[in-house]
Amino acid sequence: MLKSFDALWRGWRPALRRAVLCTAGMAGALALGWSPRSHAALATSRTPGVIRQVITSKKVVALTFDDGPTRRWTPQILAILTHDKVPATFFVVGSHALRHPTLIQDEVRAGMEIASHGSRHLVLRGKDAATIRREVEENAAILKSLGAPAPTLYRLPAGQSDRTALTVLHQMGYQVIGWTIDTRDWRRRYSAQQMVDLVLKQIEPGSIIIFHDGPNSSDQTVAAVRALIPALRERGYQFLTVSQMLKEEVLNRDRLGDLVP
Ligand SMILES: [Zn+2]
Repeated sequence: MLKSFDALWRGWRPALRRAVLCTAGMAGALALGWSPRSHAALATSRTPGVIRQVITSKKVVALTFDDGPTRRWTPQILAILTHDKVPATFFVVGSHALRHPTLIQDEVRAGMEIASHGSRHLVLRGKDAATIRREVEENAAILKSLGAPAPTLYRLPAGQSDRTALTVLHQMGYQVIGWTIDTRDWRRRYSAQQMVDLVLKQIEPGSIIIFHDGPNSSDQTVAAVRALIPALRERGYQFLTVSQMLKEEVLNRDRLGDLVP
């Protein structure tokens, strides 16, 4: 019986097998209580696209910080994360890193994940492949020269991309990371309490939260991070870097890749 099922299974066209695996996975996902928003994340994670949320039923969350480092904000944020033992992910701009190389080393020493946000914060939409490649490669070289491991995650400046940008980034081995919850801290219009309330209202397992430690950050960002960590822990959430959280993904694209020829 098992053997005949196996023969039938192998006989199916790969596309059909892929569809069956996806459907089975989706049924499992629903059984574990995932929301429809997770379906969107699944769809984006199966194609070269932007990962906005990790599909997991575990109460895990990733704090991310863009545009740094800056002398004013990065040390304050890093001190809170270190004190509270929270691993986070910094999407670093190379030109800023070159101005404050010791801050990158501090982040690495503190166990933070160093990810790429471009060497010059170049918006990649509308750029040709060579320009994109140069911006991405330059930043990887800068980060490595400052003692960080080669970055594997990329966040698009201004969140803007097109098919060329996504294709080039994926060809270069990057996973492109968006966000689930935008604190909008860079607008400097919201109080720390408003940002904390916004996150607590939207939080779901596998959420990626975006803050900034760049020039547009403020003392409200620092206060929001300080207040948010205990508030999320109280609700049972555990903090992970984005790469750590991707390993918690239930329908991991690599695992599906093993199953699908
Ligand atoms: Zn940015």
